[in-house]
Amino acid sequence: MIVGVPAESTESERRVAVVPGVVKFLIKAKLEVLLESGAGQAAGFPDTEYEQHGVRLTADRGQLFSTADILLSVGGIGSGADGGRDLLRKGQVVVALLNPLGAPEGIRELASKGVTAFALELLPRITRAQPMDVLSSMATVAGYKAALLAADMLQKMYPMMITAAGTITPARVFVIGAGVAGLQAIATSRRMGAVVSAYDVRPAVKEQVESLGAKFVELGLDTSSSETTGGYAKALGEEFYRRQQEVMAATVADSDVVITTAAIPGKKAPVLVSKDAVEKMRPGSVIVDLAAETGGNCELTRAGETYEAYGVSIVGPRNLPSAIPYHASQMLARNFAAFLQNLVKEGAVKLNRDDPVINDTLVAHEGEVVSPRVRELLGMAASAPARGAAGQEKRS
Ligand code: NAD
Repeated sequence: MIVGVPAESTESERRVAVVPGVVKFLIKAKLEVLLESGAGQAAGFPDTEYEQHGVRLTADRGQLFSTADILLSVGGIGSGADGGRDLLRKGQVVVALLNPLGAPEGIRELASKGVTAFALELLPRITRAQPMDVLSSMATVAGYKAALLAADMLQKMYPMMITAAGTITPARVFVIGAGVAGLQAIATSRRMGAVVSAYDVRPAVKEQVESLGAKFVELGLDTSSSETTGGYAKALGEEFYRRQQEVMAATVADSDVVITTAAIPGKKAPVLVSKDAVEKMRPGSVIVDLAAETGGNCELTRAGETYEAYGVSIVGPRNLPSAIPYHASQMLARNFAAFLQNLVKEGAVKLNRDDPVINDTLVAHEGEVVSPRVRELLGMAASAPARGAAGQEKRS
């Protein structure tokens, strides 16, 4: 089977789905890799390096789409001249980050092309799926980069310094949401010498925060039922968030940097830092809002923009992992390869719908949107009409 890796369709996307170092895993799974020339260039992987690892290159995007049995892409197959959606073939397999809960219309379009599409954001967070966990990989990169952005923008230094010119007090960083990204932001800020505190609604996180040398801020809110069985935070309602804003405002005002990462999967991010709280921060402070793309944790965040309000710099980055494309691609490529190792058996795609890793990520198949979560968002009936032999082995 041929795995095709097209160049990404948006200019702002610098990551690539396969890096030379993981090609050996694909070859071992009896897969041949066909890469569009230059696809890895922006991530720091030149064509020659792919060739040395046994990858075939083509400058002809049309040929890539017509030859590949499986297409791997970071940001999905876009529409328009640079996209490739019109080049897709019925029965072709697409594995990508498809933003199924944020942009379900794109899944409907893919289904209409007759492809079998997997959205890796929907992987169940079970131990077996950890090597494929794209969300954890990208959250790690984003948390690290958020800490660097904040440090770079702040008018202060992070560590305490005792110098002949006096003592420099350490910068204070407050991290809201201590999941994968938040914990990485804490660890990175600590390494740079900041005094770090953090808050999360999931009580289990306290120990993890403290193990990184940060202080867990106790807000006295009842969060005993804040966690789903899958380990994610539940939506807690506007009244809870209003109260959280109030009790957190003093910590926000006292911080030089606030990094927010609070998210509810598939939902708009809760607003946790109000305009009033920003106004009370010292001029020169910095807010980096990692939830910018899903509405923002700060009331004043503008997605994709950095601007100043009340003297405070508010950063609302989009696609932060793409800003560290080399390692982000390396991690993603390992995740993609692990997913394919599970999907492809003896050189053929095996669509085992009893496997939650396959079933939960499968969003489009045989012309239908098949993911119940995506169908709900599109206002469709809960399950797709039965067709053919879904649930049985598919070989192509
Ligand atoms: P996420 O990106 O959905 O959310 C980020 C964080 O924001 C979470 O910790 C969440 O609790 C927090 N949050 C939500 N609302 C908040 C609020 N009002 N105030 C403060 N914080 C709030 O989550 P994530 O980082 O992807 O992961 C969440 C959990 O899943 C973590 O415990 C992580 O360790 C776990 N996880 C498990 C696996 C696995 O395979 N078992 C893999 C990855 C992650």
